[in-house]
Amino acid sequence: MVEAIGVRKSFGAVEVLSGIDMTILPREVVCLLGPSGSGKSTLLRCINHLEKLSGGRILVDGELIGYRERGDRLHELGSAELARQRRDIGMVFQRFNLFPHLDVVGNITQAPMLIKGESRAEATRRAHELLEIVDLAGKANAYPHQLSGGQQQRVAIARALAMRPKLMLFDEPTSALDPELVGEVLAVMKRLALEGMTMLVVTHEMGFAREVADRVIFMDRGVVVEQGTAADVIARPRHDRTKAFLKRVL
Ligand code: ATP
Ligand code: MG
Repeated sequence: MVEAIGVRKSFGAVEVLSGIDMTILPREVVCLLGPSGSGKSTLLRCINHLEKLSGGRILVDGELIGYRERGDRLHELGSAELARQRRDIGMVFQRFNLFPHLDVVGNITQAPMLIKGESRAEATRRAHELLEIVDLAGKANAYPHQLSGGQQQRVAIARALAMRPKLMLFDEPTSALDPELVGEVLAVMKRLALEGMTMLVVTHEMGFAREVADRVIFMDRGVVVEQGTAADVIARPRHDRTKAFLKRVL
């Protein structure tokens, strides 16, 4: 589903991603771990081309993201084509970024109506289905400021799912939440995983990684240091950098 090949990214003279190779299979759940500044968010942002690559390439479902190949050169796609590619990639951030002036259903239906041309009736029907999935059936007409952080984050997940993405990217979706709200968001993500969604999740929730991830990737300073099952990487890390990181977060 995702193939990153030699992905490099520099900001000015600073190289943040130094040749990332990564494959995510359809229906696989991969947790991405690593210290602050190691490049996790940058890698996610490269996958939906919120960042231009400095080198390498990324394919999602076999399609080159962000570029078209002409001869041996890559040309950046236009905004319409980029938008089409991004429709298939859902992203949930640390901050929920809901539209404050729209109620929950309005938040969920906006993109499908505007970008996919779904009718209001169809988008609304789907929104109610999604609210069941994220356990918010009773909050359809609430406004974001009337919801807890955990509820807002679950709306953000429903909003991403409304586009029927092939792939979901999560960037520390629970790290801005009060501790007592983390579980409800992780429960929704676990449900998605069980339903077969392909997911790449940046998280420091080791319990989630152990329980849900098919594979764990540890990166540091812009490179993949090691990867394997959660049991391997978390319980039996091989590299000193992984060991040092886990000592801090466990
Ligand atoms: P955290 O766990 O703190 O979220 P991270 O692994 O997600 O860290 P990134 O946000 O990917 O790390 O950042 C990696 C490095 O790239 C950092 O040194 C950061 O300062 C730098 N960086 C990220 N975005 C930019 C930018 N737009 N311009 C310049 N430097 C940037
Ligand atoms: Mg980050």
